[in-house]
Amino acid sequence: MARRESLFVRLTVCLGLLLPGGCGGAPAAKASAVMGDAPEVHYSFVIDAELRTLSATVCPRDLRLARLRMTVPELLERVRRPRILRAAGDVPLTFEEDAVPIASATDGACIGYDVDLGPPGEGFWITHGDAHVLAAPDVWLLAPEPRPRGTHFTASFTLPPGVRAALPWPEDPRGYRVPTSAFTMRSAGAFGQFERETLRVGGAELDVVALGGGFGERAPLVTEWLQKSASALTQLHDGFPVPRVMALLVPHPGSEVGFGMALRGGGPTVMIIVGSSVTPEALDEDWVGVHELFHLSAPRFLPSDAWLSEGLATYYTDILRARAGALDEHRAWDDLVDGFRRGSRRGTGRTLRQESIDMHETHAYQRVYWAGAALSLLADVELRKRGVEDGLDGPLRELARCCARSEEAWSAEQFAKFVDEKTGQSVVQPLFERYLDRADFPDTTEVLAALGVNGTGREMTLAAEAPRAGVRSAMMAPRAGSTRR
Ligand SMILES: [Zn+2]
Repeated sequence: MARRESLFVRLTVCLGLLLPGGCGGAPAAKASAVMGDAPEVHYSFVIDAELRTLSATVCPRDLRLARLRMTVPELLERVRRPRILRAAGDVPLTFEEDAVPIASATDGACIGYDVDLGPPGEGFWITHGDAHVLAAPDVWLLAPEPRPRGTHFTASFTLPPGVRAALPWPEDPRGYRVPTSAFTMRSAGAFGQFERETLRVGGAELDVVALGGGFGERAPLVTEWLQKSASALTQLHDGFPVPRVMALLVPHPGSEVGFGMALRGGGPTVMIIVGSSVTPEALDEDWVGVHELFHLSAPRFLPSDAWLSEGLATYYTDILRARAGALDEHRAWDDLVDGFRRGSRRGTGRTLRQESIDMHETHAYQRVYWAGAALSLLADVELRKRGVEDGLDGPLRELARCCARSEEAWSAEQFAKFVDEKTGQSVVQPLFERYLDRADFPDTTEVLAALGVNGTGREMTLAAEAPRAGVRSAMMAPRAGSTRR
């Protein structure tokens, strides 16, 4: 039974293999949409049969574009031949740093550019697979500037026969509506021949795209795993917290669920590496699906507060899996206690804030994730102790409702203030202030003892007579009205 450790090791290995893709089938464009008086920018994309080149045409209407910007400057060399498209002949444009300035004399003419999607092996942003290319829109969608409020952004695709687009963007009479978050936050997209199905969970649609030929006879098991993982979120939220999610499954040699990531650009997306020979046992044991989907229920946090976004996701993954019946109560507590133990041993002596900022260099993921999880536990129990019946659950539900899809990045301070205001308690702000600028791991000893969680592993016991035993059971109990399956 793999503990999270194995995934963390794999995470550092797999980062270089991943790439963001996208979802959705693109109907052919019809240039007849009436948008009223709002300015509009329409992108037409054509992809060649080998999935090696994407040609873009960007046409503004009632809007004078000043520039088109590449949001991943390190891949700038992939963007070729920016030009003004004119009947009398194209006029070349040139990049200045990471943007193409557009001369004021264009008079609203369309702009063209090409993007090199090949060769394979580039790693994170573009990866070619079996009859598909995983190519993040960040690479091929140049961001128009300015973007006045109310501007409509739309896109259409001309694709080779049998090839579909997988994108998180909502469909639209012209193909897709491109949310402005596609220009400001990282996203995923893919083109190719692939399996796709729509799952319905808690009032939301999960657009599931399995790249690389899918999972064959294992496909129903993989579908069930994703359905269960998404249903676990209803153990916290009233239904699934966002109306639509693209789930991009990237098969990889192996029999386990691997690394995953949650992305927000253009729409909520999870991308998860799944072993092409994944076993039912590995799917039953998996926590990555719940963890990544949980991220989509909270707003984006500042990179320096990764300890909070990862801590909440890590803590609630065990809580929600227990409530959903995927873990028994004993196992869930054991997993949490074991994580706290590992996290407390894996620091580099930095403060929690600094450890979060540096974690991709130091690989101190265990410290960052589990310190955040420990602080989540401390906050949750303290709130319940003070009579806030469902602890952190209530504020997190409200946070999902107001802000899960916010383009603004939240700070830990904002989150703490939000929770304390919603609960009428002064709990989270002082807790974070106490630990954020310290190097020692949050002390859970007293709280675990009060809950009656004693020892670890096979030695672990859950004491029925502990002062907070009732709180402990309530935390892991199925939520009324949830979808337990
Ligand atoms: Zn995470």
